[in-house]
Amino acid sequence: MDTVDLIKAKLSIVEVIAGYIPLTKAGGTFKARCPFHSEKSPSFTVSVARQTYHCFGCAEHGDMFTFVEKIEGTDFKGALKILAQKAGVEITYQGKKDEGTDTKERLFELHDAVTTLYESMLKKERDVFEYLISRGLTQKTITDYRIGFAPNGWQHAYDYLRAKSFTDAEIIASGVCIKKDGEGEARIYDRFRSRIQFPLFDSAGRIIGFSGRIWKGNDTDAKYINSPETPIYHKSNFLYGFHVAKYHIRELKCSILVEGQMDLLACHQAGYTNTVAISGTAFTEDHARLLKRFSDNVILSLDADSAGVTAARKAALILIANGMDVKVTYSKSKESKDPSDIVKSGGVEALKSHIKSAVPIVDFVLQYIDTTEDSTLKKSRAIEKELLPLVATIPSQIEREQTLKYIERKTDISYNALATSIQSIAQTHIQSQPVAHRESTALISIPPEYALSYILRYHTEHTAQIDSYCSENQLVIPNRSTSRI
Ligand SMILES: [Zn+2]
Repeated sequence: MDTVDLIKAKLSIVEVIAGYIPLTKAGGTFKARCPFHSEKSPSFTVSVARQTYHCFGCAEHGDMFTFVEKIEGTDFKGALKILAQKAGVEITYQGKKDEGTDTKERLFELHDAVTTLYESMLKKERDVFEYLISRGLTQKTITDYRIGFAPNGWQHAYDYLRAKSFTDAEIIASGVCIKKDGEGEARIYDRFRSRIQFPLFDSAGRIIGFSGRIWKGNDTDAKYINSPETPIYHKSNFLYGFHVAKYHIRELKCSILVEGQMDLLACHQAGYTNTVAISGTAFTEDHARLLKRFSDNVILSLDADSAGVTAARKAALILIANGMDVKVTYSKSKESKDPSDIVKSGGVEALKSHIKSAVPIVDFVLQYIDTTEDSTLKKSRAIEKELLPLVATIPSQIEREQTLKYIERKTDISYNALATSIQSIAQTHIQSQPVAHRESTALISIPPEYALSYILRYHTEHTAQIDSYCSENQLVIPNRSTSRI
């Protein structure tokens, strides 16, 4: 029996999926609200007999491996690793590997090997180690997150990897080294030099890249540099700490979003293991979708300066549009800006009260406007510019109305003025959005006689249902236009 069969013999698809979403028994099958598309009534079914799942809303289907791949945003090998761990099965590879996965496998091996080098280098550099301890990290965290040091020099990593039989092509593809074509022979050199190395883990816990923090560099050097995009590292769906946090986000029914490695490690050490970090990139739709599959609630704990507030607003826009409930931590102190600073100055208790102080995004923006704007007119303008676009992205109309009533109570602006303003924001929003995302803005009203045509055209997630309805009732399916409004 190979590893896949062994896992399937030990685990049932029901227990695998129930580990992610609540399932309800309905005869011989189980039902749930689909984690892959937004829906109110459950159209996601799990068949015990077939050991498969199928969603009648978005047509997503497969076995326990495809489910884990999809929900964790990983590949087949990543799902295999996660499920093997759950089943207590050791992975043995059999048969011919195809070339694509083989290249990826080599890149995983390469990252693991070079991490071992960086770890051994950190053991030798006492002052780097002491610095990490002074920033509040424990020895355990340094070991668990495999933090290391890339020494100053052009070819430490390169020579080490060559000695471990990795080819030039593999070393360059990994992004660990850079190839420079110059006169005469091409030169390959280390990307990370004199840097504290934070390995980046995928959801299965495999190392896919690095974020290197400067150590005694020049003023012109970037504080952090990250691995480039590679076949195994995709910035748009990568969240630092997710391989640990995913278990706790489900358990605690909430995720905490911070910026950067040091903040994440401070939070995990303080017991907030449901924290993830964006690292060297803006928050994306992919990040939001990944978090939503684990919980609808998220707390943003970004820097308290104006750049941090802007980043929080941008992330909130994406999260709210994905139907998530957003809270934001609010630091009144000017010095303690982010979680890492807060722990450093006030200890774990200070961080705990900071996280507990998180307020709904609407209150956060209102408080921020209240402290930064000095006249009623400026405050009203800021509400229109900063707050109402956030409210306009709330997918539920009822929730939108309740939020506007709440803003009316908190400010001097009437509900009617707020509603008129939000209507015009929503209109511009709809026009500037790609068709696929327009469904989230429920302000569009469609006359009933056009509703079916609208669904057929733009809500492709319902096409499977409509197709099966039409064929059962021997109806002719009209040409499904893909044109845009
Ligand atoms: Zn679905």
